[in-house]
Amino acid sequence: MKSRIHTWGWNALDLLFPPRCAGCDKWGERYCASCQKQTKLIKSSICQVCGEPYPGTFRFVCQRCQTAELFYTNLRSWAYFEGPIQKAIHKLKYKKDLGLGEKLAQPLVNLMLANHWKIDLITAVPLDTARQRERGYNQSLCLARPLAWKTGLPIVTSIIKRIKKTKSQVGLSLEDRKINVAGAFKAEQKLVYGKSILIIDDVVTTGSTINSCAEALMKADALRVYGLTLARSTRL
Ligand SMILES: [Zn+2]
Ligand SMILES: [Zn+2]
Repeated sequence: MKSRIHTWGWNALDLLFPPRCAGCDKWGERYCASCQKQTKLIKSSICQVCGEPYPGTFRFVCQRCQTAELFYTNLRSWAYFEGPIQKAIHKLKYKKDLGLGEKLAQPLVNLMLANHWKIDLITAVPLDTARQRERGYNQSLCLARPLAWKTGLPIVTSIIKRIKKTKSQVGLSLEDRKINVAGAFKAEQKLVYGKSILIIDDVVTTGSTINSCAEALMKADALRVYGLTLARSTRL
């Protein structure tokens, strides 16, 4: 019900002040039908654990997941980080737009339901305080909040804290990414004990950040951790 009121609210607002499409700047919709059509979706030939796409149609677990120490159960992403969705995510990062977040949260709802995960609560990968201060908000929450409204699940933003300053992961190798975020997070045991938790992020590349968040949650006695991101970058 709450979710329908929110959707209705954004629709009414869009009639009064028509938005521009975050993918192509055309007036009328927040993410237009043409951009939705051009969004390259990640289909079923993926690693069953980390969701990394591979050519072929078989079910398997990738080499990296067979050897890495993983703390999450599954990680899934909606689309490849390219074309209109890359532009839309960029917009979400630099302009707090909950209406756009609401539109882009719908595929995350579908993905969550399609995977039949049992979730107790939703949270988002926290930004470090400097970045949060500079930007004023965490763009992952622009996706996580509407996801919570739409599914009726609780969202708890304070369960994971950054306890170490990290560099941006952009341009780092797989190994350096792991080192950069190792021990970067701490979770609140009384909030996560025995809970199945879904972590939301906008883009994933190697999954090191989500794995590091999952490690903090599992060490604080969470039951299980899942990760969901809007896009996946296949370039390091
Ligand atoms: Zn568009
Ligand atoms: Zn994998």
